[in-house]
Order: sequence, then structure tokens, then C-alpha cells
Amino acid sequence: MNTTTKLLKNYINGEWVDAQTNQYQSVPNPATGEELAQVPISSKEDVDTAVQAAKEAFKSWSKTPVPKRARVLFKYQQLLVNHGDELARLITQENGKSFKEAYGEVQRGIECVEFAAGAPTLMMGKQLPDIATDIESGMYRYPVGVVGGITPFNFPMMVPCWMFPLSIACGNTFVLKPSERTPLLANRLAELFEAAGLPKGVLSIVHGANDVVNRLLEHKDVQAISFVGSQPVAEYVYKTAAGYGKRVQALAGAKNHSIVMPSANLDAAVKDIINAAYGSAGERCMACSVVVAVGDAAEPLLEKLKYEADHIKIGNGLEDNVFLGPVIRQEHKERTVRYIESGEEEGAILVRDGRKDESYHQNGYFIGPTIFDKVDPSMKIWKEEIFAPVLSIIRVSSLEKAIELTNQSDFGNGACLFTKEGSDVRYFRENIEAGMLGVNVGVPAPMAFFPFSGWKNSFYGDLHANGPDGVEFYTRRKMLTSRW
Ligand code: NAD
Repeated sequence: MNTTTKLLKNYINGEWVDAQTNQYQSVPNPATGEELAQVPISSKEDVDTAVQAAKEAFKSWSKTPVPKRARVLFKYQQLLVNHGDELARLITQENGKSFKEAYGEVQRGIECVEFAAGAPTLMMGKQLPDIATDIESGMYRYPVGVVGGITPFNFPMMVPCWMFPLSIACGNTFVLKPSERTPLLANRLAELFEAAGLPKGVLSIVHGANDVVNRLLEHKDVQAISFVGSQPVAEYVYKTAAGYGKRVQALAGAKNHSIVMPSANLDAAVKDIINAAYGSAGERCMACSVVVAVGDAAEPLLEKLKYEADHIKIGNGLEDNVFLGPVIRQEHKERTVRYIESGEEEGAILVRDGRKDESYHQNGYFIGPTIFDKVDPSMKIWKEEIFAPVLSIIRVSSLEKAIELTNQSDFGNGACLFTKEGSDVRYFRENIEAGMLGVNVGVPAPMAFFPFSGWKNSFYGDLHANGPDGVEFYTRRKMLTSRW
């Protein structure tokens, strides 16, 4: 271990503490390979300490009047706004996405805090004064207790902000296990929440990997689990935590299709698709990874996509005008290369090869924009989530066939349609099997006041993250029936 690098600490009961482990993992800047810090791979004992502190803090936080809790969120929102640039830089450094994208992510995170600050309204119950003569009924909303959150590397700010601000605003206490690949931002989020006046123990951060996750899933004092990450882990988390009697929401992987009709404004569609396929290096659960070109749209679309892809600036996301940064790790780059090889072996046409870009050979985990044409559903590159700047094109003859093909995917996070025809839009909306739809929009990610609502293998659970679903998930109800 390089002894000059920063060893990250856990944040438990309002204190920055060393993890009870001697296992640390290097956190490199994916654009340079330089080590930013070392993250502890904490032990089950660290989780136990954090959960105990959260359980203790719940006693007073859950009884703190809701407007008073909301005031801490308002203060937090201000601090996050004031530190926007700093947070975005940190995201770029640990994740690799461009500064502009990182800044956008900070904004999305802040919007979650803004939504959560509405807790006094969001937590209101319902009454009916006369369910029978002289009898009334009322529903009251309460927090559930200690909540565990497990997050992925690709949105170090936005995804944790889907969870802990709303959960905490609803009166819960929260133990967050950030991705071990992007652990730095979480610590800053905790520092700023503390500066906003959050009492000790309400939010804890335990860094690490599987052991921390497993302990959260099985711990008797954790009432609910919010998870976001890849499909196999989401399924495992859902089944395991549910087996321990917890409520669980587990948001999973994706393979999002964009259908392009011949009537579409192709220039606008290409701009959106390029952004959706290559923004954040394709490491977005709402990334466009498959374009379904209908009829005559295929040739001009392919030509324009290739032209735009050839003109993308690749590099360190902190440099001006860089659009495409690195993928998260060398192993992920190698995995992506294996997918490209498999596409070639299975007979797809490699129209643009990201291995030929100069940046591919630089330090850092770069892979240029890659395009495959004539992909079909038997191929691995169509079936699996690559999570990198690799775009597949499938050609079909009609909208019906495009939707039929899209619906064959095991995933159903998002789907987009580019068209000028209202009737296409209706047909698409009524027949597509995905939870977040876009029409002439590349990344139809809902804002914080709506649920983030993937279908099929993109989601395990029933109440989704954010919006009214989030409030339901982080609260439980009491029904009072009384006679006067
Ligand atoms: P990942 O599944 O590898 O990791 C997610 C979290 O689970 C991390 O905190 C990690 O430490 C933990 N984890 C990983 N393997 C585990 C195991 N075997 N047992 C217990 N815990 C484990 O995901 P990632 O690579 O960090 O993130 C990318 C994935 O997340 C993609 O599949 C992407 O589509 C998905 N994602 C989905 C959404 C959504 O809203 N549906 C949003 C963002 C990301």
C-alpha cells in the first residue's frame, strides 16, 4: 500500500472512524490510473456498529417534528448548491464522466433533496370523518426504522440521493454502502449533511463490498433495503433481504432500445442517440445501447451516427469539451473488448471500432465510440448489458416488428421512439414493455418527483425509487378507527 495515499474512513454515529479491517482497495482516477484514495473493505462488525448507532438515533429523529426535519434538508440543499462545482469535479475524478455530465448529476441529486424537503406534505395521512354513524377512520404515516442503502459506481451522487434524503426526511435513519469503486463523493455528501445540522447517527456510511451488503441484508435491526446495481446482484439482494423479512426495492440493469422511424427528424434523433449511447461512457442504466432502425431510416441514420461518433472528443472529463471519458476500470475495458470480439465472431458488422481511437492506448481506461450494424437477437451483444460506449443497430421493416423485438429483451428499464407521427406514439406507448419511455427524447429518466420505474429484470420489488413510491417505501401506516 502507498502510505501517502488517503485512507478513507467510515462515518458512524457522526464520527469519522477507521474500519475494523486491514483490507483496503485502491481507488484510481479512471482517466489517468492515478490512485485517489484507498477504500476500506469494512467488516460485518462495522455494519453492526453503524446499525446500532442508527437504531439509537431513530428514537429521537423519528420523533423530531417533520417541519424541523425538513429544515435540515433545506439547509442541505443550499450547501449542495454552493458546493456544486466541487462535487462535480469529485465525480469526474472518481467516475470519469465529463464535468458537464457530472454537474448535471449533481443537479439531479439536489432535486431529490428538494423533493424530500417537502416531507411535511408528503407524509400527510388521510381521514374520513364518517365511515359509519359517529365513527371515523384515519390513516397516519410513520417511518419504518433503520434503512440500508447499497449503490452502484455510475452515479455516485444521484443514486445515493434517490435514497437517503427522502428516507431521512420521512424520519428513518440510514446506513449507506456506496460503491467501493466510487467511494469519495459519499463522504463529502455526509460531511455536508452534518454541516446542515443532521444529528449524529441519522446517516452512516460504511464502505466495503459483499460482506457489508450481506450484513445489511440479514441484520435484524434493518427494516428496509434500497438497492441499485447490476441485475444478478439486484436479484440476489431482493431475494435475500425479502427472506429476512425486509421490504426491498432493487433497481437493476438495462438494455434500452431506441426505435427510429423513417418520419423522424434524423438530425435531432442522432444528437439524442449519441448523447444517450456515449454520454457517461455508456455507463448509465438509461443509456441507449440498441437502435432499432425502421425501414428507410437505417442508411442515413447509420451514416450520421458514424459521422458524429467520429467527431466525439475523448479524454479526461476535466478537460474542456471532452464528451467521452474512460470506463470505470481496466477490467471493465477488457470486458468491453471481449464483447466487441464476440459481436465480430457472431457476424455483426463492426462499423466503428473504439479500439482504434488513439485514446485507447493512453493511460486510463479509454475505449472509443463503437457501432455494430446488422445485430440480431441471437447475439450476445444484443442480449447482455455491456455498460460501455458500444451501440448496436438492428434493422426491421415496421414499428410493429421494432416493438416485438424490443419486447424480447429480458430488461425493460427504458425505451425511446423517434417519430413525427402521433399514431406511432400511441402504438408505442400501449405496446412497449418498459417502464420509462421517451418520445423524441434520448434519456427519458424521470425527475425526482416521479418514480424511477423499470420493468422486467430491470427491477425487483413493487415500490420504485423516488416520487410517491419513495414516500410509500420509506413509511408505514397506522389506521385508526374511532367512535366519538
Ligand atoms: P454492481 O451490481 O456491481 O454493484 C452495485 C452494488 O452492489 C455495489 O455497492 C457493490 O459493492 C455491491 N455488490 C456487487 N456485487 C455484489 C455481490 N456479489 N454481493 C453483494 N453485493 C455486491 O453494479 P455496478 O457495476 O456498480 O453498477 C452498474 C449497474 O447498475 C448496471 O447494471 C446498471 O444498469 C445498474 N444501474 C441501474 C439503475 C436503475 O435505476 N435501474 C441505476 C444505476 C445503475
